[in-house]
Amino acid sequence: MLGLYVHIPFCSAICNYCNFNRGLFDADLKTRYVGALLAEIERAGGTGREAVDTIFFGGGTPSLLDPEEVARIIEACEERFDIGADREVTLEANPETVTTERLAAFRDAGVNRLSFGVQSLRNEELQRLSRLHNADRARAAVAEARSAGFDNLSLDLMMWLPEQSVAQWLESVDGAIVLAPDHLSLYLLEVYPNAPLKDEMARRRTSQAPDEDAAAMYVTALQRLDAAGYSQYEISNVARAGRASRHNLKYWADGEWLGFGCGAHSTRGGVRWKNVSSTDDYVRRLGTGQSTAEDVRRLTPDERLGDALFTGLRLAEGIDLEAVGRRYGVDVWQRFGGELEPFVDEGCLLHEGQRLRLTRRGMLLAHEVMTVFV
Ligand code: SF4
Repeated sequence: MLGLYVHIPFCSAICNYCNFNRGLFDADLKTRYVGALLAEIERAGGTGREAVDTIFFGGGTPSLLDPEEVARIIEACEERFDIGADREVTLEANPETVTTERLAAFRDAGVNRLSFGVQSLRNEELQRLSRLHNADRARAAVAEARSAGFDNLSLDLMMWLPEQSVAQWLESVDGAIVLAPDHLSLYLLEVYPNAPLKDEMARRRTSQAPDEDAAAMYVTALQRLDAAGYSQYEISNVARAGRASRHNLKYWADGEWLGFGCGAHSTRGGVRWKNVSSTDDYVRRLGTGQSTAEDVRRLTPDERLGDALFTGLRLAEGIDLEAVGRRYGVDVWQRFGGELEPFVDEGCLLHEGQRLRLTRRGMLLAHEVMTVFV
């Protein structure tokens, strides 16, 4: 089934490491933006009311929307698409933007999964990342979400922060386990060349720990999460049974989705496109009935195959070579086996029957393995 992604590009402050499509919150622009989103959803292409089972509000900081605005967007999706009762509706939320009342109102609006951008449970690190919340606010947000009735809760954590030691990182991991979320995403901080954090690190003469420490952070965190009853289903994601992100699985399991909002990407029927990135331009185009899509591209069969393999390998269960081969009419091992064999020999890849999957060691070198496919 189709997934719907809704981009909300507003933030209360801009974090010093951020490379997402976002800008500072502006109440007037937000109101006009929501109007534009409703218009884009209403005119979404295709015939009939297609089946949809996931909606994902990502950002930016979607929890800066009013719950009524979220409700209107979900209603617009319901009018345009056939969304089953067994739907997953995720809202990304920053801990400082929520209260029990607001969370209860988001739930009434139709949100049934929350993803909190916690990043760290050490105040010193949160300050260094210029985040607006502290560890206590993050813990309180989780308690508020539970008391508002959310039984599907995810936390994002970020490792390899400047000056962070392995032990310090594990404090956040252990602290997150105590909070008992249903799902966790673990990301490695990437310091982009033009990020203010990069200048700050140069000024303060700080750096990220050596690569071996980053590897230890990743592997040890996953071991602790294994022991706490989470199972890893993707390179950066673990979940309790039945709590994997159904929406995000569409990105990794060769699914299809439509993206609404500025900068949102869509993939459907072998065609990929992206909306204009600028919020103002997006609102203006919707206001004048113009298309918001750019970079519209029909993928070649080889690109589709490469993408299916590239993203499929991110999954812990890996790729079903026979199923992918059937779908794209190729013998995958015959085509790529020669280049993949050395990774199998090095213990990065497992080739068992028709399954090809990364080992944990391989997940650390995933990019090198995946480039075989593109
Ligand atoms: S809250 Fe998220 S999207 Fe907004 S600036 Fe910070 S990292 Fe970027």
